[in-house]
Amino acid sequence: MAFMTAAPLIDRLALIGIGLIGSSIARAARARGLVREIVVQTRSPETLKRAEELGLGDRYTLDAADAARDADVVIACVPVGASEAVARAIGPAVKPGAIVSDVGSVKMSVVRQMAPHLPENVHFVPAHPIAGTEYSGPDAGLPDLYVNRWCILTPPEGTDAAAVDRLSALWQGMGANVEIMTPDHHDLVLAITSHVPHLIAYNIVGTAQHLGEVTNSEVIRYSASGFRDFTRIAASDPTMWRDIFLHNKDAVLEMLGRFSEDLTALQRMIRYGDGDGLFDLFTRTRAIRRGIIAQGQDTPAADFGRQTGAKPDA
Ligand code: NAP
Repeated sequence: MAFMTAAPLIDRLALIGIGLIGSSIARAARARGLVREIVVQTRSPETLKRAEELGLGDRYTLDAADAARDADVVIACVPVGASEAVARAIGPAVKPGAIVSDVGSVKMSVVRQMAPHLPENVHFVPAHPIAGTEYSGPDAGLPDLYVNRWCILTPPEGTDAAAVDRLSALWQGMGANVEIMTPDHHDLVLAITSHVPHLIAYNIVGTAQHLGEVTNSEVIRYSASGFRDFTRIAASDPTMWRDIFLHNKDAVLEMLGRFSEDLTALQRMIRYGDGDGLFDLFTRTRAIRRGIIAQGQDTPAADFGRQTGAKPDA
């Protein structure tokens, strides 16, 4: 449920990109009285018009530098691969003392892309909300998307503590729990919790599509037997996910190597009829699911809590 703070935490917030994540920030910050003014920027006139129709901001522009000028907090909400271009555009315009952040699903690459183009007198505090859905664009945003989800901040060493606290307060105000990590640790953790699972989903849905002997209509008709839950993940935004794999290459390949070794071990258990081995593994994995539910990161309802439309993601 929304609540109002006594005075807005932030005077002017600029959102560079207004898709699922940017528009969810706009909706959450507005509903909770966290900001006085929201400036919305996006690259296409169509998306900007839609953001305006939805009333997501107070001011709208196609020019990132124009949006960043005079903003107290600037958040880049674009695909990871567009981070450098955004930093180049806003760098010369952003005012001294402002906070520049992002929401990218990969952190080392974003730091490498953005930091060199930002002036020394701004506070760079990269962030990643672990919340999302398989939908994109300004219509897809939800005011409660971040409630009880984690937001990981990866401030470079020596970042002003007050700036980190201010950005943490914004995310907490939107309902998130904040955690601080190094960018490389973030990328390793997310490789196994999000990036490899998405790759597996993309792969299994792709494999089913290529199967000649099982027709596509059978795959769809009997999808409730497991396949269906992979298709939801495999419906995630192609641009966003292309960029994640290209920009978190090392951590994904490392985790994928371990995954392949474990898959080979499973193959062997099936081949040699090692039922105890299979049973042990499936018992341990079931406990992980129970732990996720116990920590409020999913509901015990069947179909992965689909009724809310939201999923911990990316
Ligand atoms: P989205 O709904 O597709 O929106 C993307 C926004 O970025 C749009 O405003 C789009 O502008 C703009 N954009 C796209 N390509 C661009 C480019 N090359 N240069 C400049 N702007 C560009 O995406 P999203 O789901 O909000 O994702 C945004 C970021 O959040 C990504 O970095 C993603 O990794 C991260 N993230 C996503 C999720 C998730 O589940 N979706 C979760 C956590 C974090 P136009 O529409 O005007 O072209």
